[in-house]
Amino acid sequence: MTELSALSAVPVGSRDGVLRFYFGPMDCGKSTLALQMNYNHRRQGRRGLVLTKHDRSGGPQVTSRIGLGSEAIEVVDDLDLVALVREHERVDYVICDEACFYTVAQIEQLADLTDHFGVDVYAFGLASDFRSQMFPAAQRLFELADEISRLQVEVLCWCGRPGRLNARVVGDRLVRTGEQVMIGDTGDAPVRYQVLCRRHHRAGDLGAAG
Ligand SMILES: [Zn+2]
Repeated sequence: MTELSALSAVPVGSRDGVLRFYFGPMDCGKSTLALQMNYNHRRQGRRGLVLTKHDRSGGPQVTSRIGLGSEAIEVVDDLDLVALVREHERVDYVICDEACFYTVAQIEQLADLTDHFGVDVYAFGLASDFRSQMFPAAQRLFELADEISRLQVEVLCWCGRPGRLNARVVGDRLVRTGEQVMIGDTGDAPVRYQVLCRRHHRAGDLGAAG
């Protein structure tokens, strides 16, 4: 297959890859888009890997809430993503779900894959944590990515404004301190996450249903 870009006539194989970061709050359709992208590339005869971390199903799969699923490789902290790709005969693209939870070193490895091996990297994740502060891996993606897209797939705050930020709710209160990554329960109070607009995240207002 010959593929030409608008910017150059360099054939596939000798071109640089592209590093793209798609970010948005919970439930904005990131995993669904990741799976759709994998499906589309495969149909074109391209070969790729799907990576994930802390997937909500608990197993090494990318699951989306509309029920698509795909075998995925679990990204543990000491996994070298360049070495992983080079173990495979041919990898045209890598889809990285939950990339906000990767290490900063792994984000550097993704950039190496695009620059040195011509691999297209499509990373999906949250930008910021429950305090509205950036995850280190997300920050590095903002710094390095060729293209950045904010995903806004009809996820709304209780007030109807666009949902921008994830709030951590313990019991019935929004909390602003604690571990950056925390899933499930801590001690007596259940932990959940709720998407809020910027105004209500900053005000700590969970609305009547909160
Ligand atoms: Zn709001």
